[in-house]
Amino acid sequence: SIRTRFAPSPTGMFHVGNARSLLLNWVVAMQTGGRLVLRIEDTDAERNRPEWTEGILDAMAWLGVDASQYEGPYSQASYAPKHQEVSERLFAEGRAYYCDCTREQLQQRRENPNLGYDGYCRDRGLEPGSGRALRFRVPDGGVTVVDDQIRGQVEFPHDALEDFVIARGDGSPLFVLANVVDDVEMGITHVIRGEEHLSNAPKQQLLWQALGHEAPVWAHAPVLVNEKRQKLSKRRDKVALETYQAEGYLPEAMVNYLMLLGWSPGDDREIMPLAEMVPLFDLGDVNPSPAFFDEKKLRAFNGEYIRALGEDEFVARCQPFLHGDDVPWPAENFDARLFAAIAPLAQTRVAVLSEIVANVDFLFLDEPVFDEKSWDKAMKPGAAEVLAGARERFAEESLSWDAATLKATLEEIGQQHGLKLGKAQAPVRVAVTGRTVGLPLFESLELLGRERTLERIDAART
Ligand code: GLU
Repeated sequence: SIRTRFAPSPTGMFHVGNARSLLLNWVVAMQTGGRLVLRIEDTDAERNRPEWTEGILDAMAWLGVDASQYEGPYSQASYAPKHQEVSERLFAEGRAYYCDCTREQLQQRRENPNLGYDGYCRDRGLEPGSGRALRFRVPDGGVTVVDDQIRGQVEFPHDALEDFVIARGDGSPLFVLANVVDDVEMGITHVIRGEEHLSNAPKQQLLWQALGHEAPVWAHAPVLVNEKRQKLSKRRDKVALETYQAEGYLPEAMVNYLMLLGWSPGDDREIMPLAEMVPLFDLGDVNPSPAFFDEKKLRAFNGEYIRALGEDEFVARCQPFLHGDDVPWPAENFDARLFAAIAPLAQTRVAVLSEIVANVDFLFLDEPVFDEKSWDKAMKPGAAEVLAGARERFAEESLSWDAATLKATLEEIGQQHGLKLGKAQAPVRVAVTGRTVGLPLFESLELLGRERTLERIDAART
């Protein structure tokens, strides 16, 4: 049966490209009743940190790939004895040889710096020893053909493959070796990963064969690029899944969007839950060209997913953004009932959940935060009169405090001063919320209540 694997290195933030590889492996396992294996490639002791491993598990769980969905996690470091044993075996069988060439020696002998190792130690018969690297003996002549599900048959002439190092002078394995040894051990049938590993595939295929196995099914998913067609980079682009999570992207929107990078379910359908994509997905349909990771489009997807949530579900999903150290209002001011009442107005307007805060803060702050610009924008001719009129009429006990009445009343006041409703609303909105844009004003006033509305209009007029 099919066994796929996700094999991240715990050396940094969980990248959206990682998330995409994970999903492809998960989907292929799911659609065939196979199994996804999680292997943490933690052999680089200097760059690994335990919190990155935690971050991997958290990111996976957020995407919906919790522990019930995979076998593992296995730690690559714990397979060190096996890596060692395989190195010895490849040496004993003459598939690999020891090399003591130093970097300087290589440099001196090399006329063309682009050429790889020159094979100097191939036939010197060196025994293992400290400081001696183990190199794989690439067959002379011929080609290795990597049969890639996404890219077709990719040919790698052996002349262009150097005798690559599989274990360092201290005996520790290189990525190409450890990765293959573990895949063999774990019975992996499909290696699905990012395009940046395509150049490793011929070397790894030679290793699979040297270990007496058929190569796995390969699939190298297209590289992700930004709007300038540059490969996404940590330094330049927003690539950490955590950042998207913190901004209030919904995991189901993220999953949906990631699946569409280089693939489409057909019929022009884009918004589609993962469960519906699983039976439709085929690695062979993935386009090998670089895929544009379009944050704007992801944002639009997210807005759609937010609007599709039930009201209660929306309220529940907002919770992490309404509590904690970052909220601008005093924690004790938060009123869950009031929030539930305003939430439906906000649900149609936010594209990411973190935007909820700026939409509702006027309800929970002691006083709105004004910025001078909004104030200047709102205080056009007639605005002061409108505020004075609103102060007077809104205070009348006989005036019913509901959105429709408030609207009709402000409309009247506006007319008295030659202002259309839109213009008349502006100073009231800024007085009450501190902003020139926001949720529908009259519903907002209704929820804020007469007393607080009047207080704020008073404060604005002084
Ligand atoms: N640890 C490697 C990476 O994170 C794994 C590559 C692979 O899937 O083979 O890039």
